[in-house]
Amino acid sequence: MEQLMRDFFLFLSKNKTLTKLAKKYGLRFGASRFVAGETIEQAVKVIKQLNKKGLAVTVDYLGEFVDNEKEANEMANHCIEAIQAIGREKLNSQLSLKMTSMGLDISDDLVMKNMRRILETAKEHGVFVTIDMEDYSRCQKTLDIFKQLKTEYDNVGTVLQAYLYRTAADIEDLKDYHPNLRLVKGAYKESPEVAFPDKKDVDENFKKIIKMHLLNGNYTAVATHDDAIIEYTKQLVKEYNIPNSQFEFQMLYGIRPERQEQLVREGYTMRVYVPYGTDWYGYFMRRLAERPANVAFVLKGIFRK
Ligand code: FAD
Repeated sequence: MEQLMRDFFLFLSKNKTLTKLAKKYGLRFGASRFVAGETIEQAVKVIKQLNKKGLAVTVDYLGEFVDNEKEANEMANHCIEAIQAIGREKLNSQLSLKMTSMGLDISDDLVMKNMRRILETAKEHGVFVTIDMEDYSRCQKTLDIFKQLKTEYDNVGTVLQAYLYRTAADIEDLKDYHPNLRLVKGAYKESPEVAFPDKKDVDENFKKIIKMHLLNGNYTAVATHDDAIIEYTKQLVKEYNIPNSQFEFQMLYGIRPERQEQLVREGYTMRVYVPYGTDWYGYFMRRLAERPANVAFVLKGIFRK
């Protein structure tokens, strides 16, 4: 049953008509629990509140799978606007983005042009940029572009997903670039040909890649809401005397906020991923797919309105 619901929400996340309707009718139906607003001004307000609690942020202008140049350029402009706001308001925030929203599916020239524009502005304002990892079909291309950009800019990192068989090899392959990597379980529906179908294996691989990347001496963002993985990381860094300055925890806005603050109190860097923008529908559906229990929360939200 749970698997059926997951598949259902992942299917909905890709539905173009529903995406259009969602854009038209705004932030309703409980999405506001996971999305900071539709404008940069609304996002800045949320970031300030989180920073006040000692939480660092990575902010994301929502959008993905863009298929025309004009829209890709506009998406990049939104990222630049967010970076300028971070600089102007002196926020403790990085930026996250998706390469498909910068033109990855259109042309290499376009995506490189947009990424360089963003990274130049980010460099001026001292802002770090993380390239989110999308579905498997974009993984190799994303890593190729990341490697190229990393030779030009220090302020760029990316994400590796524990559910892919290839990820341990990618950690090794990237090691000499000394990348700041966010490690996650993985949020897309992938075939058993490329990804561990069994959750237990994903968790084991997650632990394995966290250990590999930390022991390679590289900065590691452990992005999870899973206490078992958080505890594993705490024990590992203790055992190998890895300083708190070499790693951080990350969670999504609206998920386990008390746990986030508790980790800050324990002295860890805790970064919250804060999405905003009008294109919130696909992101919201993936959150529902991850945890069908969230559906109950959302339904309560709908019936309260
Ligand atoms: P799960 O297996 O989903 O959950 C494990 C346990 O965590 C649960 O059993 C429960 O105990 C606890 N838990 C989870 N949710 C809740 C909740 N709402 N309330 C209470 N307890 C809860 N994926 C990508 O593919 N690409 C990316 O670039 C990417 N970036 C991300 C950035 C951040 C900061 C984060 C946090 C996630 C990102 N993800 C990304 C999503 C990620 O891949 C997972 O889909 C998502 O984090 C869910 O996996 P999990 O590790 O939290 O564990």
